[in-house]
Amino acid sequence: MSAMTYTCPHTGRNVSIGIDTDLNSFSLLPNVPVKFLCTACGKDHTSNTHALRLSDRPELDAIAAQGFVAALSGVPTVRWHSDLI
Ligand SMILES: [Zn+2]
Repeated sequence: MSAMTYTCPHTGRNVSIGIDTDLNSFSLLPNVPVKFLCTACGKDHTSNTHALRLSDRPELDAIAAQGFVAALSGVPTVRWHSDLI
């Protein structure tokens, strides 16, 4: 399990949004809005799930994670597109 993180626009710090998940589940997230209280600046922030990162794989956003997981498994994955939701 890894923390889902976001970069605070006020402090530039990577902070957890308070939800932990694994890489496979993270790669399956649809692109939906998320709102959370930032532990770095104390303000509410709104983002979307595809802008989040995993604390142990910060180089991968959700879209990049889809490709990474597909490459590991050798099985193509369904990609979520916000225009289909
Ligand atoms: Zn903040």
